[in-house]
Amino acid sequence: MQIDSVEKHFGENHVLRGVSTEVAKGDIVALVGRSGSGKSTLLRCVNGLETIGAGRIVVDGVDVHAPSTDLASLRQRVGMVFQSFNLFPHLSVSANVTLAPVLTKKITRDEAPALAKRMLERVGLGQKLNAMPSQLSGGQQQRVAIARALAMSPQLMLFDEATSALDPELVGEVLRVMEDLARDGMTMMVVTHEMAFARRVASEVLFMNQGRIWERGTPDRMFGDPQTPEFQQFVQSVV
Ligand code: ADP
Ligand code: MG
Repeated sequence: MQIDSVEKHFGENHVLRGVSTEVAKGDIVALVGRSGSGKSTLLRCVNGLETIGAGRIVVDGVDVHAPSTDLASLRQRVGMVFQSFNLFPHLSVSANVTLAPVLTKKITRDEAPALAKRMLERVGLGQKLNAMPSQLSGGQQQRVAIARALAMSPQLMLFDEATSALDPELVGEVLRVMEDLARDGMTMMVVTHEMAFARRVASEVLFMNQGRIWERGTPDRMFGDPQTPEFQQFVQSVV
């Protein structure tokens, strides 16, 4: 995936200012930075939830913002997990997981139960197939949301503060699932406040500030030897 000189305005607000980066297959990119620095907007631009003012984003050979691009089919290849899990409350866990693959005809209805089982086992919830979302903890619901994204066999997974809404004791189980995915070779862009996770799992850390990638590097270099005063301050404020 390539992000090339991307500019984004919301009215007068210049939110992304020449953002460029490349995410190779299997890379885990951690996006960190203060609230309002443009992290969510960047992720939303990557799967075409936002337009861009200039620049280019190419996912899997597809120019996301080209007029000819079929965004629905692009989003089938890019999984996104948000802070709020947004499961369908009236559908069972397994139906939540297989709804999109069935509707998009990626699988047949007959194949749905096996796919649900496989995906839910992957996030450690193989025993919850028939549960309703309301019967699950927040951490379990977020793991279902991850299973739901994985059910579309995405090439790339985007996580936007996937653990920020969870009670502290539930954060670990979701981070472990994300870490397993990373180990399995999934390509991931992860907005997170969990610096220990970023340090342990990321192949590269991007610090965003005022709509720019202000500082970037390997986790060890970034956290061991932060260079810019802005990133130094940020690191001190989050540990
Ligand atoms: P972060 O995720 O780093 O907290 P965001 O990408 O959410 O930052 O926001 C970056 C800036 O863009 C902020 O100033 C925010 O207010 C603004 N912004 C984000 N989304 C919208 C929107 N849909 N409409 C107008 N302004 C927005
Ligand atoms: Mg955000």
